[in-house]
Amino acid sequence: MTNSIVVALGTRPEIIKLAPIIAELGDRARVVHTGQHYDEKLSKVFFDAFGLPEPAYRLAIGGETRATQIGEATSRLGEHLAAEPARAVVVQGDTNTTVGAALAANATGTPLVHIEAGLRSFDRAMPEEHNRIVTDVLSDLLCAPTEVSRKNLLESGIPADRITVTGNTVVEAVETLLPRDRDGFLAKHDVEPAGYLLATFHRPENVDDPATLRVILEELAALPLPTVLPMHPRTRARVESFGLGDQLARLRVVEPVGFQEFLALSAECAAVVSDSGGVQEEVSVLKRPVLVVRRSTERPEVLGTFAERVLPGPDIGRIVGGWIDQLPELHARLAEIPSPYGSGDAAARSVVAIDEMLAG
Ligand code: UDP
Repeated sequence: MTNSIVVALGTRPEIIKLAPIIAELGDRARVVHTGQHYDEKLSKVFFDAFGLPEPAYRLAIGGETRATQIGEATSRLGEHLAAEPARAVVVQGDTNTTVGAALAANATGTPLVHIEAGLRSFDRAMPEEHNRIVTDVLSDLLCAPTEVSRKNLLESGIPADRITVTGNTVVEAVETLLPRDRDGFLAKHDVEPAGYLLATFHRPENVDDPATLRVILEELAALPLPTVLPMHPRTRARVESFGLGDQLARLRVVEPVGFQEFLALSAECAAVVSDSGGVQEEVSVLKRPVLVVRRSTERPEVLGTFAERVLPGPDIGRIVGGWIDQLPELHARLAEIPSPYGSGDAAARSVVAIDEMLAG
């Protein structure tokens, strides 16, 4: 009987949040990369940053439609599990890889573990909401980051004995890779501590409509501090196809940066403006405010403390402008607030729960 546990991943946030689990599993981890993010800047650099070995298997599902990605992740991982059984499959979050791998585990009778289970935006227009709900329903062990997510699971009808509250592995990912010396990263972008904003965008609701994307870029350009904008390939493609390149002139647009660099920039900035999920959690460890530009959020734990949520439009300038006006007080207040995502032992707790599940 094999001892190995398949850790299935395919995108930047999955690599970041599963790295602490892979480290904790040690030799038992068999990492399978679906290839959903095939861009080196969204994948390989994160393996290197965490010192993870090359994935044991690559499935190359990338660059297709959502349906094809999910279907191919299911069939290819299903074939792999049939040929080389595993004791369990571990997935994380809400991507096409997550749900495809969950279906493959289910179809091969392999116990399924969902890390970061129970998040809900209650926004049915988001593919991620469907991905996470389906994955939760199929899972045999659900590692919920907070009590909020545990409650969501109970309200979805998931039995309490499948759920364990672990905290979020993003805390240890940040603690492990946040650079102590951040001067070089700031110098590279020609910015001073607390003298710039950091922005990231890639969600369809913000970048797939030309008018919305234009408003966001204009709002950022009008802010009184420079904005460093590591641009996701999806956003870059939209800017080009909508002919919005001129809007980038007043922003410091760069390619996506590595995790250490992104953490260094987050830790030293005045504020973050983003539609990312993981960034909302990271700021609670780094004690910086984030303006979430989205219709909804599945991370309500940080609203009213580290995060405010707005729709694309003049609220961006109004709120970030207000923060800039009282920055030292705001940073000092946030420094006193503990992260709702735990104290950095989520991976250890998750692996204890996995072992209990396998022993039971
Ligand atoms: N990130 C990064 N470099 C960048 C932009 C983001 O390392 O240029 C990291 C960020 O710290 C966070 C993760 O990527 O951990 C967020 O990824 P993304 O926004 O793609 O996914 P989400 O968290 O929204 O699912």
